[in-house]
Amino acid sequence: MNFHILTLFPDMVERGLNTSIIGRAVGKGLLNIETINIRDYTLDRHKKVDDYPYGGGAGMVMQAQPIYDAWQAVAQKIGRKPRTVYLTPQGNTFQQEMAKDYAKEEDLVLLCGHYEGIDERVLEEIVTDYVSIGDYVLTGGELPAMVMVDAISRMVPGVLANDESGTTESFEGNLLEYPQYSRPEDWMGKKVPAILLSGDHAKVEAWRREQSIKRTMERRPDLLADADLTAKEKAMVEH
Ligand code: SAM
Repeated sequence: MNFHILTLFPDMVERGLNTSIIGRAVGKGLLNIETINIRDYTLDRHKKVDDYPYGGGAGMVMQAQPIYDAWQAVAQKIGRKPRTVYLTPQGNTFQQEMAKDYAKEEDLVLLCGHYEGIDERVLEEIVTDYVSIGDYVLTGGELPAMVMVDAISRMVPGVLANDESGTTESFEGNLLEYPQYSRPEDWMGKKVPAILLSGDHAKVEAWRREQSIKRTMERRPDLLADADLTAKEKAMVEH
């Protein structure tokens, strides 16, 4: 899968995404993460990419021309108009299901805003999807783009090794994951639940399922309405 990230701060994105699992997937050729410096496309002789907002008000607005030209360079390279996400607090809140959907794309453009945002006219021209990572305002779209790249990449076949498999993660079936434990068996007097040491896989699975439901009830009861539950589990949730 190819990510094309339009940004004024390519260093930030490159440094953040070149390590661990994502860095390894890039090394293997499963992912290609290209950063495009919007400033390289400005026609302004002082390399300016922003200006004051019409109508007044605080801050600066990123101008249409450099963004449009940077995006067109990507579109020309891949030979078509790519799905293009603008990271914005005004977008749909990013969810695991969206990560799965984006992972089916061969190419995805992520547009990072800065300052007060971007001239609306270029957004109308190139953006297909408006995505937010949560109800708060950050200084730029780079961290949100990195969040999206990370979550989407995990859904690309081969990116996770077998032992890092995502099939039992939180949000699968609309439940949170069960609690996890590792060595030692006793840490500061706190013992690993005995069932996990029993070697009885069926019992371990049943315990994990129950814990997963309990944890979802405690921490994210809003998920339960759409969770995949058996009739018995539904009864447990309702009492
Ligand atoms: N003036 C804008 C508004 O009120 O909607 C906020 C601009 S914000 C300071 C600058 C940039 O950060 C945005 O253009 C966007 O790319 C990014 N950004 C900030 N918060 C975000 C969020 N929660 N999700 C996604 N992107 C965000």
